[in-house]
Amino acid sequence: MRISTITNWAYGITVLLTVLSGGAFILSARSAERERIAVEEHLALDRLGEDLALGAELRSDEARLYVMRGEERHLQAFHVREDEERHHQAAIRGVRALEASPAELAALAEVEAHAEALDKIEVEAIAAYQAGDRAGAQAALFGPEHERQQTALLETVTRFRALADTRTSAALDAAKLQADWWGIAAKTMLALTAALFLGVLYFVLKRRVAAPLTRMTGIVTRLAKQDYLVEVPNDPRRDEIGEMNEAIQIFRDNGLERDRLDAERRLDQQTKDLILQMMHRLQACQAQAELAEVVSRFAPQIFPHLAGHLYVQNDSHTALALVGTWHEPHHSAPGFEASACWALRRGRPHISNRGHSDVICQHLEESETAGLCVPLTAQGDTVGLLYFEEREGNAPAIEASRLYLELIAENIGLALANLRLRERLTTLALRDALTGLLNRRCLDEALNRHGREDGTLSVLMIDIDHFKRFNDEFGHDAGDVVMQHVAKIMLDTTDTRGAVYRFGGEEFTILLPGMQETPAFECAERLRERIASAPLSHRGRMLGTVSVSIGVAEAPLNGPAATLLTRADAALLEAKASGRNRTMTSSGLVKAARSA
Ligand code: GH3
Ligand code: MG
Ligand code: MG
Repeated sequence: MRISTITNWAYGITVLLTVLSGGAFILSARSAERERIAVEEHLALDRLGEDLALGAELRSDEARLYVMRGEERHLQAFHVREDEERHHQAAIRGVRALEASPAELAALAEVEAHAEALDKIEVEAIAAYQAGDRAGAQAALFGPEHERQQTALLETVTRFRALADTRTSAALDAAKLQADWWGIAAKTMLALTAALFLGVLYFVLKRRVAAPLTRMTGIVTRLAKQDYLVEVPNDPRRDEIGEMNEAIQIFRDNGLERDRLDAERRLDQQTKDLILQMMHRLQACQAQAELAEVVSRFAPQIFPHLAGHLYVQNDSHTALALVGTWHEPHHSAPGFEASACWALRRGRPHISNRGHSDVICQHLEESETAGLCVPLTAQGDTVGLLYFEEREGNAPAIEASRLYLELIAENIGLALANLRLRERLTTLALRDALTGLLNRRCLDEALNRHGREDGTLSVLMIDIDHFKRFNDEFGHDAGDVVMQHVAKIMLDTTDTRGAVYRFGGEEFTILLPGMQETPAFECAERLRERIASAPLSHRGRMLGTVSVSIGVAEAPLNGPAATLLTRADAALLEAKASGRNRTMTSSGLVKAARSA
């Protein structure tokens, strides 16, 4: 109930009680008036009775004194008393007009009769006395008849007074009782009004206003400090305090919503920042392994609720290999054919294992965990695949992040394609297309880079013996195959100990850093023997054995690095001149020259 309704009701009841209490006071006052009238009537009747008795007695006394003494003043006094007697009779008529009882009226009539009888005796006695019958007058005034009438008058007056007293006392008691009752009623209602007023005041101020206001002050203070966790109790009352409570509730709900939106915006900004950071790192990647590491580090930060794999597609677009992983996804194979993925087939993102609504990629196990495959494409060419899997208890995280997932997939695709292009260009610039060996420019750079402080460096100059013959006899294709065959054996033999370069034509150079001439010679011999011992065929035709001649030189022990190639070449020429299929060292050349 609204406070205004409560106060209106209280006001109405207070007014009603006040009116009732006023009415009761008026009635009480009227009863008091009646009481006063009854008292006055009682006194008037009592006085009348007394006056009647006393008047009759005094008049008799004056009549008796007159007939006894004969003094005129007693006769005059008797007449004065007679006048008074008439006044009393008028008073008796007045009493009749009052609410006197029939018994009282009968008593009064009797008093009148006795008074008149007495008056008659006394008037006759006075007349007799004046006529000279003194004895007769005295006998009449002191006689038994006068005595009887006087006694009867006094008794009747006494009875009248008793009757009047009884009646007026009863009326007085009734009026008093009524006055008291109305007085009590008026006071009670006044007390009720006061109690109601105080009660409403207490209820409104304490229970309905002060207590809720104190509680709300605490809540508002906490809300002002942005403590939106404060509980606003549900107050269903429909009054101003209830409305304030509702307003505070709305304020708190708005605050919570704003907090939630702020947190969402901050999280979104954080995600965008991380995506931006990842993009910058991706652009700076120089190798696929670096790119995989960047993705594996950033993806779990950007999407903490998703596990994932990064796959790259081979150049022939047939298979995908796992290069990066985060948060350990369980359901996708580490490598699979491109045709096993619906996303790669369709060139669009594809969700598997979300209920049973769609087909499941064949590289995935069937499970309750949804997985999203996003093809990595660049300029219409598919270069790989991003796979995301929801981690337990975090569904459905894929749909929530779908936009960002596709955004980063686009960027990773571009970065991967750029990297591949860059690798291809680098290969084209640094490697020989036929053998895949590093080219002459790389050799020159490596030799230029090698400084004195880098220590020993041995070089092998290798030339295929009578190579022209393969071209001439079996064609250039066969010549190319021979070249590739020799290149492969050189790579295998050198392994990690050095680098193999195509010097030009059918000549090759191997740099062996940290190796002195003798082990370099042994290495060259092993290489020569492996080449010489591997017969070669091309398109079903035996090409025969291939042999190489090798010149070995070392720096800086046997000369500066700048002359390494020249010295190794000289040793090679010597090997050719000495009959081919052999290894000669630069130091051996020097010794031979000295001994010659
Ligand atoms: P020698 O034992 O004196 O080294 O004799 P050779 O025949 O190996 O040497 P020569 O310099 O006379 O011949 C080298 C030939 O290698 C000439 C050239 O046609 C051929 N050649 C150079 N580069 C290639 C290539 O890339 N492919 C093919 N098939 N032949 C090449
Ligand atoms: Mg040759
Ligand atoms: Mg040659």
